[in-house]
Amino acid sequence: MRYIDPHIHMVSRTTDDYQRMAQAGCVAVTEPAFWAGFDRSSAQGFYDYYRQLTEYEPKRAAQFGIQHFTWLCINPKEADDPGFAREVIAIIPEFLEQKTVLGIGEIGLNKNTKNELIILEEQIALAEKYNQMVLVHTPHLEDKLKGTRIIMDAISASSIEPGRVLIDHVEEHTVSEVLDKGFWAGMTLYPDTKCTPERAADIIEMYGTERLWMNSAGDWGCSDPLAVPKARLEMARRGHSTETIDTVTFGNPQNFLGQCDNFRIK
Ligand SMILES: [Zn+2]
Repeated sequence: MRYIDPHIHMVSRTTDDYQRMAQAGCVAVTEPAFWAGFDRSSAQGFYDYYRQLTEYEPKRAAQFGIQHFTWLCINPKEADDPGFAREVIAIIPEFLEQKTVLGIGEIGLNKNTKNELIILEEQIALAEKYNQMVLVHTPHLEDKLKGTRIIMDAISASSIEPGRVLIDHVEEHTVSEVLDKGFWAGMTLYPDTKCTPERAADIIEMYGTERLWMNSAGDWGCSDPLAVPKARLEMARRGHSTETIDTVTFGNPQNFLGQCDNFRIK
């Protein structure tokens, strides 16, 4: 069995995690640029982070037979100062030429502020200009539905096809609107809070497997880099076929990500 974890922040995980993921069947990860647990003090801090994502992390993953791909952006948590955010956005294009970059992400909203929206729109324009796919972060606060709608409207106002956009962190109350508009939807699995492996299995039973994937979003906080294989076990326990399980944990991510020529499973 093999699986892809399409959203995990490996820069904050240990090599032991890579080893355990490889043992559990992980063959590829994609890592969106995100907050590092603290606000960076300069655009240069992001420059170094993008180098880590594009140069260093693929080599670390390769030691365990895992392919590592990445998405670049300034995340919504650090995008509330437009002047600072624009300095960071200006350094992204040179990194888009790297062979493991899949697109712009994870962009979106955190507290649904005006400034966050301005920078979201400018990064959607960046994706348009460079013909990039997009990976979207939706707010974890009580404003998730409202934030998801604002983000979908901003993308729909651009020329980017919804089939080239994945909207992540969907839950029971947002998944159907996301899928109905033609976007892909990601379920982020957390150990206790938000979407657990059990709730993800429920969502698949309610909405089917089309354009749906799951990921661990493992990062520096409470999270589980083995959440995807645990969800596979939960689905198997409920009697789902191997084919269905493979669709949401391997086939779907491969199909979505494969729209970018840089994504090829060896
Ligand atoms: Zn993330």
